Formats: sequence, structure tokens, C-alpha cells
Amino acid sequence: MTEAVAASATPTAADWSAAVSTIRELAPTGRVLLICHVNPDGDALGSMLGFALGLRRLGVTRLQATFAGEFEIPEPYAGLPGLDLLVPEEQAWRDPDLLLIFDVAAESRLGGLVDRLAAARATVVLDHHASNTGFGTVKLVDGAAAATSVVAEGLLQRLDVPLDVEIAECLYVALATDTGSFRFDMTTPQVHEMAARLIATGLRPGDISRRIFDSRPFGAMKLFADVLGRAQLDPTAAAGHGMVWTYATLEDLARHGQRPYVLDALIDPVRCVAEVDVSMVVKELADGVWAVSMRSKGAVDVSAVAVALGGGGHRLAAGFTGHGSPGDVAVAVRDKLDNHLI
Ligand code: 5GP
Ligand code: MN
Repeated sequence: MTEAVAASATPTAADWSAAVSTIRELAPTGRVLLICHVNPDGDALGSMLGFALGLRRLGVTRLQATFAGEFEIPEPYAGLPGLDLLVPEEQAWRDPDLLLIFDVAAESRLGGLVDRLAAARATVVLDHHASNTGFGTVKLVDGAAAATSVVAEGLLQRLDVPLDVEIAECLYVALATDTGSFRFDMTTPQVHEMAARLIATGLRPGDISRRIFDSRPFGAMKLFADVLGRAQLDPTAAAGHGMVWTYATLEDLARHGQRPYVLDALIDPVRCVAEVDVSMVVKELADGVWAVSMRSKGAVDVSAVAVALGGGGHRLAAGFTGHGSPGDVAVAVRDKLDNHLI
């Protein structure tokens, strides 16, 4: 059984002080391994690298950052400060003294690095998924935070690490990614206050936005055209709230010479379809295995749908690994939507 935290759960003062004392005790002399989720996005990489740079400012020298799976940084994040701390999964310490985990809602999202949980002396989890399954020794899981980088900044403050422009750029990329450029509902006054602190270090929001949102290869645009061209509208799904969905195969990627991560941006045009509440992109990972991205405008809790299908996420943005044909995946999702109306 999982013990998912409630969406409104926030870390207690005891959780924060446990995290601070664990880090103060183990980080100065120990090997510190930071891990974010497989297929890392802006929040995963940004919160992890921003925090790693903060530890480096504290004088911590034995630092590695990593994630499971193919060792490839999506082009939008290829200029992030702190990338020199990244090592491929195979080079990550097998028995670190301290494990710090970022933006990982469930152990499955650690991939082949899941064995580090048992091997480390202590594990501090920084996350903001309401569906977080509650693993780790110290849990800083804030279901109300817009991004994991909000939690990371809170912990850096408590460790008395001042922001510099490099830390700030990492945390800003994370915040901008997970709030959809400060457009989604969780864009609270506190989010803008944090953005203000980050921008005040001298970073360039225009440059960052262009890199992470507004730049893609010509081949990716053509790929998007193919994949969007086969989108299907299902107006009766979700008790009439409707769903739109499409899929992309490995063959589509090969035909246009594109890497899988370019598909992460494809949910954005799909979720703009006015006629429906739910949107979905089904992306082929291997033969008959699909990474599924879902979004809702508020009528359906897609996190609950994803959890029912073995994944997780947030109420309005979630995902899971699907099997069979794209049509099989769509039917599996459609069957769950009616049970999870908000
Ligand atoms: P995206 O669609 O952008 O890949 O993911 C949306 C949200 O769902 C993110 O918060 C992400 O962490 C979560 N998510 C996506 N795929 C999975 C999955 O396979 N398992 C779990 N537990 N969460 C997922
Ligand atoms: Mn996140």
C-alpha cells in the first residue's frame, strides 16, 4: 500500500529541522548523491542542480548528481549551471552517505537507482507531488508547492545558503517549467515572490524562456505537424467533458531525426483544444510500451487516473507507463475518467 500525502500536506517544522540536521551531519564529510526522476524535466534537473550548487557553496566537495536511464540532457537544459556535477547512472556511488531526491513521486521514478534508497545512510526527499508514496527517511513533500524548486529554495534558506545567479537560474528554470511560465493555478503570490528573489540575482528571464520554451529544431516542428495531424477528439469521454489525444511512435522520431525528449513539449498545443477537458499524448518508449502525459482543465483528477494505471502526478498534470497499442492506452484511460471527476 502507498501512503500518498494529501494535496494540502506541507512539511512540518520538525521535518525541516530533520532535513537541516541530516545534511549538516552527513554532507560536510560524506559522499552526497543527488537523484532526480527518469526522463528529467526542468523541475527535476533545475531543483537538483540548484540544490547541488548550494551545497557546493557550503563547502561540500563530494557531490554527484544523476538520474536513471540514458544519459542525455534535453537540449533546452543543456546550458544549466551545475551540469559538471552530473554523472551517468553507472558511475553514481553505490553506497552514498547521504541521498537527496528531487521531484520523484514514486520509487519507480528512480529507475535502476532505486537500490540507493537501501544503501544510503539517510535519504532526504524533496518533492511536491500529492501522489508521493512516502519513501525516504526525511520527507519534505509539499503538495501545495508549485515546483520541487520551491522546496529546494526553502531548504537552502534554512541552511543559510545565499542565492547566487547560478543557483537562481536552476531554480528559476524549474519554477517556470512547472508553472507553465507562471500561468497555472498554483502560480501564487509566493511563487512570484520567489521569482522576484531569483531574478534579483541578475538572471535573464527572456534568454531562459527562449531556451526552454521557444526554441526547437525544424525537424521537431515537422514531427509535431505529423503527430498533431492524427489527433482524435472524443467529446463523450469523461462524462461529456471530452478528451483529445494523439500518439507518437519511435518511427516518427526516427523519420524526423528527433530525440524522444522533444515530444515533452507536444502536450502544450494538444491541451489548448477548447472543446474538451482532458488531453493526452502517448509516446512510444519501446515496442508496446508508452509514456503517457495527461492534462485536465479542472473537470477530471488526472493524477487519480494515473495512479489507477500505475503512475502519478498532480491533479491537473499526470502520467503513467501504458502498454499495448496507442488505442489500447486510450481505452484504458477513457475507462477510468468517469471515476475521477472532480
Ligand atoms: P509529464 O506529462 O510532463 O511527463 O508529467 C506530468 C506529471 O506527471 C509530472 O509531475 C510527472 O512527474 C508525473 N508523471 C509523469 N509520468 C509519470 C509516471 O510514469 N509515474 C509517475 N509516478 N508520475 C509520472
Ligand atoms: Mn515537478
